[in-house]
Amino acid sequence: MMQNILREFNIEAANSGVSTGSTWLEAGGDTLTSFSPVDGKDIATVKTASRADYDAVISKAAEAFTEWRQWPAPRRGEVVRQVGQALREHKESLGRLVSYEMGKSLQEGYGEVQEMIDICDFAVGLSRQLHGLTMHSERPGHRMYEQWHPLGITGIISAFNFPVAVWSWNSMLAWVCGDVCVWKPSEKTPLTALACQHITAKVFAENKVPEGVSCLIIGGRDTGEWLAADARVPLVSATGSTRMGKAVGAAVGARLGRALLELGGNNAIIISKDADLDMSLIGCVFGAVGTAGQRCTSTRRLIIHDSVYDTFKTKLVNAYKQLRIGDPLDQHNHVGPLIDKQAVELYLQSIEKCKAEGGKFIVEGGVLEGKGYESGCYVKPAIAEVKNEYSIVQHETFAPILYLVRYSSLDEAIALQNNVPQGLSSAIMTLNLREAEQFLSQGGSDCGIANVNIGTSGAEIGGAFGGEKETGGGRESGSDAWKAYMRRQTNTINYTDKLPLAQGIKFDL
Ligand code: NAD
Repeated sequence: MMQNILREFNIEAANSGVSTGSTWLEAGGDTLTSFSPVDGKDIATVKTASRADYDAVISKAAEAFTEWRQWPAPRRGEVVRQVGQALREHKESLGRLVSYEMGKSLQEGYGEVQEMIDICDFAVGLSRQLHGLTMHSERPGHRMYEQWHPLGITGIISAFNFPVAVWSWNSMLAWVCGDVCVWKPSEKTPLTALACQHITAKVFAENKVPEGVSCLIIGGRDTGEWLAADARVPLVSATGSTRMGKAVGAAVGARLGRALLELGGNNAIIISKDADLDMSLIGCVFGAVGTAGQRCTSTRRLIIHDSVYDTFKTKLVNAYKQLRIGDPLDQHNHVGPLIDKQAVELYLQSIEKCKAEGGKFIVEGGVLEGKGYESGCYVKPAIAEVKNEYSIVQHETFAPILYLVRYSSLDEAIALQNNVPQGLSSAIMTLNLREAEQFLSQGGSDCGIANVNIGTSGAEIGGAFGGEKETGGGRESGSDAWKAYMRRQTNTINYTDKLPLAQGIKFDL
């Protein structure tokens, strides 16, 4: 079946990883092999971009921008509508490829493609709503207003865990805003990127969109560094680790470009004495083990009230006993593999560090072996009782390790929740209105996302997505996140025959 899917997306045994749309360049960089953590098999190879390829792509993108920005935004929206339609047609195959190349469950693979479809729909509506404000001028016979203009090339650096959705959050908005996109996907998931490029290229060609509006450059860290340092790229939207974000933020900042950073999280759920514990259990377990703990919004910490701590701990341990770990394409399984053996190594090291700091494991971890686990990437979700200040707890481990911490007052719980370097997603489980409102108030959670009675993981595209502190401060997707992809221009028009100056300044000749 996978062979048919690869054929559907024109993916061969060896591929070029550099494209400006319908054109695929003869890439001159190293060869990358895409490996499936599901069964440990090599899927196909991709030639990465050399520096010369990269420069050729950027030139093409810059040329395309001069034409694309002149298209009326609703017409650009119509093209994005058709991309959404094409994604609907390929949802089954693309979802399966995401699941096979990245290792997330098939349901989550489909969910990721659905998210792409949703953002297309959102972007189509947005293409008629790129509104500016009008202001009253202090000068008679003057009018002031603001316009939002296209910015130029949007560089998109994406992570392996949402190999295609993050690209679509950025590119669909950037396109309706009149920008052109150059995408550098994760080197761990190049094939899903090739598939998206083929889907888009067909729609773009049918609509005579200029070559260079949708570009793909497959490569490793260096390719991302080229984008970050390149003054021809006014906006770099980078999703990945905090380590990467600090490097990209510094490089983009040094040239006074714009960086939109979506980095790591260290997300907690507060389980109050007034929580519905059965409902909370589902949110906590899915948050901690879904996508094998490889979501930026995965639940890493549970901050549990003393009075329900033991009861909830028992429920968690029992729930973990029910978890089925195995092939993510088999919908009976709850937990699939980690992305690669390096991730397995980091998981094992984190368990050791946690133990060394005094952590007590109530559900032990470990690597699974034997039939079905040949890739060496399947691990057991683990739970440890810890102190929030342990250095390992302050750090995001991208694996299914859940830390439990106790609290006795809500002020203490909120302080624990906030007392980590990251600030992405947070939640409280409570039926008590006072507690919920305190958690959401200015003195409550310091995260970009704060939920009540749902977990930390998963978000809808309608809201702005992102977080504070070491999560990078960027916002993508819904609400007014589109403004990051445009430049604001303030216009003042004088329709009189006088030239009064602002602030009443007199200047007579
Ligand atoms: P990563 O930082 O290793 O790589 C992400 C991307 O950055 C890749 O394309 C990589 O090639 C590139 N890159 C790495 N170093 C770079 C550099 N110095 N300059 C330019 N580009 C560079 O991350 P990963 O392992 O692929 O993904 C997991 C991380 O991503 C986790 O920390 C997770 O929380 C985070 N993430 C955040 C969000 C969010 O929206 N906040 C979403 C998904 C993933």
